[in-house]
Amino acid sequence: MKRYALGCLIFLGVTVTSFGQHSITGTVTDLSGRSVLGTHVVSKTTGVTAIVDHEEKYRIDTQSNDTLIYYFYGYDFQVIPVNGRAKIDVVLTSPEDTLTNERIAASANRKRKVVMILVDGISTDTFHKVSTPYMDAMSEQGWFSPAYVGGRRGTISETPSISAVGYNSMLTGTWCHKHHVFGNSIVSPNYNYPTVFRIYKDAYPEGKIAIFSTWEDNRTKLLGEGLSSTGSLKLDYAFDGFELDTAAYPHDANKHYLKRIDNKVVAEAADYIINHGPDLSWVYLEHTDDMGHMHGDGPELYSAVTYEDALIGTIQDAVKLREQATDEEWLIIVTTDHGRKPTDGKDHGSQSFRERSTWVIMNRPIQNLYAQNNQVAIVDILPTVCNYLNIDIPASTANELDGISLTGAVDAFDLRGTYLGGYLQLDWLTEYRNHEEATVYVSYTNERKDGKEDQYKAVGQVDVQKRTFTTKINPPKKTPYVKVVLKTKNHAVTTWVKVKS
Ligand SMILES: [Zn+2]
Repeated sequence: MKRYALGCLIFLGVTVTSFGQHSITGTVTDLSGRSVLGTHVVSKTTGVTAIVDHEEKYRIDTQSNDTLIYYFYGYDFQVIPVNGRAKIDVVLTSPEDTLTNERIAASANRKRKVVMILVDGISTDTFHKVSTPYMDAMSEQGWFSPAYVGGRRGTISETPSISAVGYNSMLTGTWCHKHHVFGNSIVSPNYNYPTVFRIYKDAYPEGKIAIFSTWEDNRTKLLGEGLSSTGSLKLDYAFDGFELDTAAYPHDANKHYLKRIDNKVVAEAADYIINHGPDLSWVYLEHTDDMGHMHGDGPELYSAVTYEDALIGTIQDAVKLREQATDEEWLIIVTTDHGRKPTDGKDHGSQSFRERSTWVIMNRPIQNLYAQNNQVAIVDILPTVCNYLNIDIPASTANELDGISLTGAVDAFDLRGTYLGGYLQLDWLTEYRNHEEATVYVSYTNERKDGKEDQYKAVGQVDVQKRTFTTKINPPKKTPYVKVVLKTKNHAVTTWVKVKS
């Protein structure tokens, strides 16, 4: 009905009269921030029509007390009084958006829970080559993306493509220059970069966290359960350590005991999810990596991937049963910790494309444009979990995160910087077109590594759409790195910029 009325207004025309010039410009976007090219902007007084053109703007000359009508086929029209403004940016919504918003509102009333599943050592090419019907179905109803581990090659964040290193990048949302896990012996993790479990418990002390794992060190060393340096983090439920029980699981040369343990771990995870529904949990499965190390690329590794796929299907079924029986809404995130050597697939640890090559699956199609259009990283999982669970990450932690949420609002990402001749130059990317002011902060110290606060100083403001920023800075002598935070409307993006050569 609204559209019909407006159609009359446009097509029957209104007497056009000339008035004193008042120019109005602006953008017209949809809810995702994309420009709605071709939108008609009609003066209610004069009938003059302007169109959003390929410059992604409109310009209309009319009176300062006019009212403008914005219309494009498929969207609800908007009627906006000018009130003397020279710039009016408009967001058009469609009836479908209204439905989506209603769905979001309905889902907001459901209790959200997350289970992360990490299945060890499956490179993206192997994933695509092998039969994985359960993960394929999850990707189909949700989302799949190639991803990477290993930090930024050739920079301080470069991170070995080693198992525990990858797990901790997932758990802390940071690369190894921060979390300090460089190998599987996990010598001295820096617990000043908290895991997602600690962040969760700080936000929701009453919430329940759980781990189901074929490797006990994940709980005792990476999560650091019970250590004073992790605030004595306590899992509400832990099911792990069976690899140490050589009576029940004798260590056979073919390492099939680990396959049996993966099976046991998943059976318990599924049962526990159905009956107890932990708010945040992690399932860790190992069999694939062992087959890779022993046999390299070939039938043993491939059938291990298919085997783990079926176990992941078991967890997905458990989540579905739980959702049917409760008013809960679950996010399942499945990923892997590294790829495999390009030559034979046996080992990993280096920076080859294949060793860095991983993937992420979510069971819900809630990816944002960053996730949709870019190669995502294992460090993105922590911000994604926090976003989904509505956790407001404290600034002192957010300022150190190397990841970007795969869901929700993303203003900027891929922040990079150089320092030359006293000037700090920054560049970043955006996917949305909102003009928002962002603030650039720098810190010349890294107190965070010792658990103290850094003094971030604002050095300028910039429209996030500019995607670049330069300023003169004066770091104290011998400062090795300037820590940079681009604080946007919805989150922070960080990078370390090398100063001392
Ligand atoms: Zn691994």
